[in-house]
Amino acid sequence: MGLIDRLRKFTEGLTKTRESFVQKVVQLVSTKTSVDDDFLEKLEEILISADIGTKTTQMIVDRLKERARREGFDTSEKLLHLVQQEVAALLHVNGTTSQQELALPESPRPYVMMIVGVNGVGKTTTIGKLAYNYRLAGYKVVVGAADTFRAAANEQLEIWASRAGVPIVQQAQGADPGAVAFDALDSAIAQKADVVMIDTAGRLHTKVNLMEELKKIRRVLDKRFPGAPHEVLLVLDASTGQNAIQQVKRFSDAVDVTGLVLTKLDGTAKGGIVLAISNELNIPVKFIGVGEKIDDLQVFDRHAFVQALFEGVQILQRS
Ligand code: GDP
Ligand code: GDP
Ligand code: MG
Repeated sequence: MGLIDRLRKFTEGLTKTRESFVQKVVQLVSTKTSVDDDFLEKLEEILISADIGTKTTQMIVDRLKERARREGFDTSEKLLHLVQQEVAALLHVNGTTSQQELALPESPRPYVMMIVGVNGVGKTTTIGKLAYNYRLAGYKVVVGAADTFRAAANEQLEIWASRAGVPIVQQAQGADPGAVAFDALDSAIAQKADVVMIDTAGRLHTKVNLMEELKKIRRVLDKRFPGAPHEVLLVLDASTGQNAIQQVKRFSDAVDVTGLVLTKLDGTAKGGIVLAISNELNIPVKFIGVGEKIDDLQVFDRHAFVQALFEGVQILQRS
């Protein structure tokens, strides 16, 4: 997909978020030319309702107050620009990349990735999309089906692997997830693959503790190839809003999450969660999902994100 198509898709995906959050901000600034208490209070309400979170909202509001005091704003256009700048600044904070192409680090090989997250967030779908994109980028890919808990998990990853045109390593349902991870890595090494992605289970409330299972998968990977996994991606469903923050904390405690994937941004008005996550947690958002199809995954680019959020918005004419 070309850059223009990608941007269009991205912009479309953020439509609901734009309508719920940015349009409200625009309406507010359209009636205002100064940063007074009433403005700040209403802005705070809008940001909180867009799932930007109290902490991050407070930070935006405080900075606006401070800048208004120093710089003064006399037009709605300048006020809107200021809000946009402050939103962009949040995404800078934790060093989220601004890279647009999908590229693996030069080494090591194979590059070992573990994909974690609760049930239904889109782990398997994300692996399918990533496998497809990495293969298109010229990398040799292997996927491992270490979600051995759910009955249909193997078939689902198999379907994605065949769509993506990459080999899958799997065992029977109920097999030890650590053993599957080990085999997948073993096979990736034997095939001289560039990248191996390990799918994992997501159930939280069963006899076998998920966090212990994930720790074990980590240990097994490291045993086969010291230093692996090189990336642990936590997948989050953007429509869960603030609860996503709790999920990051739980998974990080167990498995050293190195990056986040935010899925279902296309279906939600809660895309503001990206801002809360970028601001409150020190883990970069690496990819976003904007649909269910194989090419609906994008490398997260903070500039494009802010641009897409504010795409086409204009100060309303006052009558
Ligand atoms: P897992 O349990 O974490 O492996 O989640 P799955 O990969 O099975 O996905 C659960 C559901 O979410 C499926 O119906 C996917 O099609 C859907 N899904 C995943 N990513 C996206 C996305 O970016 N946008 C939309 N709209 N749906 C998605
Ligand atoms: P433990 O099960 O917690 O004692 O952890 P281990 O490090 O012993 O291994 C965890 C799992 O990884 C095992 O149950 C095996 O399925 C798998 N595993 C570990 N080492 C090997 C190996 O050398 N070959 C294969 N095929 N699997 C291994
Ligand atoms: Mg799955």
